[in-house]
Amino acid sequence: MITKGNFLLLETHEFRGWLQKQKITRAITKLQVHHTASPNYTTRKMKNGIAQQDVFACLEGMRNYHINTQKWSATGQNITIMEDGRIAISLDRDLNKTPAGIAGANTGALCVEIIGNFDRGGDTMTAAQRQAVAHVYACLADKLNIPINTAHIVYHAWYTAQGSRLPDYTPGRSSKTCPGTNFWGDGNTVAAANKGFIPAIKQELERLRKGAHNADKAKVYVNDEKIEDGFILEGRVYVPLRAVGEALGAKANWDNITKTATLTK
Ligand SMILES: [Zn+2]
Repeated sequence: MITKGNFLLLETHEFRGWLQKQKITRAITKLQVHHTASPNYTTRKMKNGIAQQDVFACLEGMRNYHINTQKWSATGQNITIMEDGRIAISLDRDLNKTPAGIAGANTGALCVEIIGNFDRGGDTMTAAQRQAVAHVYACLADKLNIPINTAHIVYHAWYTAQGSRLPDYTPGRSSKTCPGTNFWGDGNTVAAANKGFIPAIKQELERLRKGAHNADKAKVYVNDEKIEDGFILEGRVYVPLRAVGEALGAKANWDNITKTATLTK
């Protein structure tokens, strides 16, 4: 864990513990997915999978561009994931500050930038970065109680330049191809997200929950209908209230400030 200039740099394994200690004071319901396009693996001067450019030079370079060229007040993104799996937190755009990620659609969102150009013909994500990306989104979804689906984990490409949500990536209408036409090896459409990226986040969260509690999984049924798996901890079965609510036709709500869960019909 190193703080230098305007960034806090964490190893992948340090992120979850750091995140758990953060006090979130704004409502966050969406996690944006971006690639930086530039900087990318070429500008990072990758040699045998190791970037030769200093990591803080890269981060400060982005910040300078955002402030001096884009005329933003601070670094656009809240979080940056490096090609080696390290995770940088923008100190001038901490988690409680609304990001400058998708023009017109930043309220209630958190902006994560993944270093690289993942358009077709661009960079191939390293295994370390891939693991860190799944890990960061799983930890954020867990901490912020954000469902892991394409309504809440959103690609920049699903928005117009004005910030209207499109049903899918639509060349000509989407503001950008971001996070890349070959993101995750699948692309930037909703179907591509549901194919590889969304399941990878779910799998990582399942791994974390199992690891954290060393818990066994429990099958859970509501009115004979199987819902999301729960886990067994100290003789009790824990299952997301949202999953139970949905199965009963009720709505689950989570207030992250007062730490209160409600189920209403
Ligand atoms: Zn983007």
